[in-house]
Amino acid sequence: MKEIKSDNYSVWIGKNSLAKLDVSAYSKVAILVDENTKKYCLPLLPGIKNSVIVEIKSGEENKNIDNCNFIWKKLTENHFDRNSVLINLGGGVICDMGGFCASTYKRGIDFIQIPTSLLAMVDASVGGKLGVDFNGLKNQVGLFSNPKSVIINYKFLETLAENELRSGFAEVVKHALIIDKNLWEHLKNNPFQDLDWEEIIETSVQIKNKIVISDSKEKEERKKLNFGHTFGHAIESYYLKKGTPISHGEAIFMGIILDSELSSLSVSEKNDIKNYILSNFGLPYIPPKSDLLNFLRNDKKNKGEKINFSLLNGIGNCTIDNLLTEDEL
Ligand code: NAD
Repeated sequence: MKEIKSDNYSVWIGKNSLAKLDVSAYSKVAILVDENTKKYCLPLLPGIKNSVIVEIKSGEENKNIDNCNFIWKKLTENHFDRNSVLINLGGGVICDMGGFCASTYKRGIDFIQIPTSLLAMVDASVGGKLGVDFNGLKNQVGLFSNPKSVIINYKFLETLAENELRSGFAEVVKHALIIDKNLWEHLKNNPFQDLDWEEIIETSVQIKNKIVISDSKEKEERKKLNFGHTFGHAIESYYLKKGTPISHGEAIFMGIILDSELSSLSVSEKNDIKNYILSNFGLPYIPPKSDLLNFLRNDKKNKGEKINFSLLNGIGNCTIDNLLTEDEL
């Protein structure tokens, strides 16, 4: 088992990591699950006496204030005091929403993240970003708050659907492109199905952790993580509004392709990125940029009328605050 030190908490990674789940100091324990993580992941947790299971329906469309009300109500009905803890057992939806509910319940109780999807392991697990979607906009309401600990165990991936695995992989590809040229070469030269997950997840978490530690509130360095996400979030919102939501990872893969096109890369590097993504991961239709403008205008990172992109200045080298007008897109 490996310990990665983050801000003021530890991330435990490895096959024995669940042994680090210690709730003995708390007065009450709740475990937030959806129907899938209740079925597949809850049985893998060490037994916790008298824990309250709070179940919500899976899916991005359920990452909303109504479900927060439901979670806060369950905690209240079960007399959770400030010395209670919420364990978030699930993908990014459960971790983001559960963390948000815990951080606001009675002005904040402890929470432990146990990410069970690849996306949640390599991305949502560290960095303290929490929240829910609101009024059709992604992560519109939320806050920064750190968990008590994060426990990553590859065993959970055994039941994760193949499309979800591929979806989470978008963030691994992003991490490689913005910081780690060697990782990018490794990914490009090895078939997806032959990758050593243990190694890939650990490297990916290390990359994200190093960035968020150096800039917890997204003032400078952390903005590099937005590569692929300006277009990616716009595409995600576009499909959400259409009523045919796509996975976060699919949107980010498309965002990586579109952001790469705007980046200072050689033609062959741009082609490499596009071909790698399209040949390994089947994607839905990439909407034309004109259909995305409305969503881009709402991006939280914008400055005035300009849209703010993190772009590549070579593989493994990311530049932030590239401000572009709509005409320049
Ligand atoms: P998700 O939470 O919806 O999980 C995807 C699906 O996989 C769900 O149906 C879930 O029930 C199922 N699932 C999860 N683990 C499973 C397992 N081990 N076995 C079987 N089924 C399992 O989606 P996601 O892709 O994990 O996360 C997407 C969310 O994460 C988005 O809301 C996004 O905004 C958020 N996110 C947050 C951060 C952050 O820094 N906080 C970073 C990236 C993404």
